[in-house]
Amino acid sequence: MKTILKKIDIDNFTLEELDQAATLLRKGGLVAFPTETVYGLGANALDKDASKKIYEAKGRPSDNPLIIHISDKNDIKNLAKDIPDMAYQLADVFWPGPLTMILKKKDIVPKETTGGLDTVAIRLPANPIARELIAYSGVYVAAPSANKSGKPSPTQAEHVVRDLDGKIDMIIDGGKATLGLESTIIDLTGDLPMILRPGCITSEMLERVVDHLVYDPAVLATKPFSDVKPKAPGMKYRHYAPEGNLTIYEGAMDNVINEINKNAEEKCRKGHTVGVIATDETKALYRFGIIKTIGSRKDEASIAAGLYQILREFDELKTEYIYSESFTDNPLGQAIMNRLLKAAGYQIVKLS
Ligand code: AMP
Ligand code: MG
Repeated sequence: MKTILKKIDIDNFTLEELDQAATLLRKGGLVAFPTETVYGLGANALDKDASKKIYEAKGRPSDNPLIIHISDKNDIKNLAKDIPDMAYQLADVFWPGPLTMILKKKDIVPKETTGGLDTVAIRLPANPIARELIAYSGVYVAAPSANKSGKPSPTQAEHVVRDLDGKIDMIIDGGKATLGLESTIIDLTGDLPMILRPGCITSEMLERVVDHLVYDPAVLATKPFSDVKPKAPGMKYRHYAPEGNLTIYEGAMDNVINEINKNAEEKCRKGHTVGVIATDETKALYRFGIIKTIGSRKDEASIAAGLYQILREFDELKTEYIYSESFTDNPLGQAIMNRLLKAAGYQIVKLS
């Protein structure tokens, strides 16, 4: 299959430029497009054959459900039933934006889209290209991250090209995904609202709207889990993984830097390719391996936005060992560390 690559200027585009992508979606095709979180791989959510194509193209396990993207808040009524008031309150505050809600699904939503579940994940994205594309196509758009399953999520069209060129109909290049981490997922089908995946809408932000927020135990895991089954089926896979062996160091910054320098030196001396995930503040203090800055600790969002990009860059460089600082002190730390820990297979060294 020849994949069409189309550049669209997020600040200045016409509906006509989206026409081909919208037509492809209506006909059951696959179109990757930018959202504010990461790039999504879209297909008509109500067409089970189109949904199946997403799983094939990504190599995604069929029990890992897709998030349905809508362009109008009222659309949740067409996809979900028994919707609690809380869903409308959350939608009013956080949509359009990086919040996904799990609700009971209506029969119209095929199980192929929900990985066999009776619930459905719904989000209204803020990226104008995404929103206009969904509205113009006239279909609800199932869209997981547009990466090969297991790879870091794509934050640029280039990443999508690398993973899915020749496997999908079209890629819209709308520039960098501004947030760079997947949406926060909140499950509203139980007695209490439950966070299934942390993201840029933090628990502090959610608690302004809902009382008694709880966490899926899998979110809080700090080591590989076999005893807890995450409620978001996708969270059980070793996601976001770079090719190299990634270790996180946590503790006083001086100790972290010393320990990373020591390990990086040793591996370099043995002839291995080594990478260091540093920040703008610490970059100059590392002495061995390929040192890359993920962002600035003064600008927490830059670290979230830089994570997948840096993991992909180290893959390109065939880095065998990657050492990273930890980011727990960041307000977005829960979301960042959730992804980083998974990428590291939960290898974390705690220093004093
Ligand atoms: P992605 O779009 O690639 O970020 O993946 C979507 C995430 O949403 C995966 O972790 C899924 O397991 C999760 N998800 C989608 N639908 C549901 C659902 N009905 N219940 C729980 N988790 C869901
Ligand atoms: Mg994904």
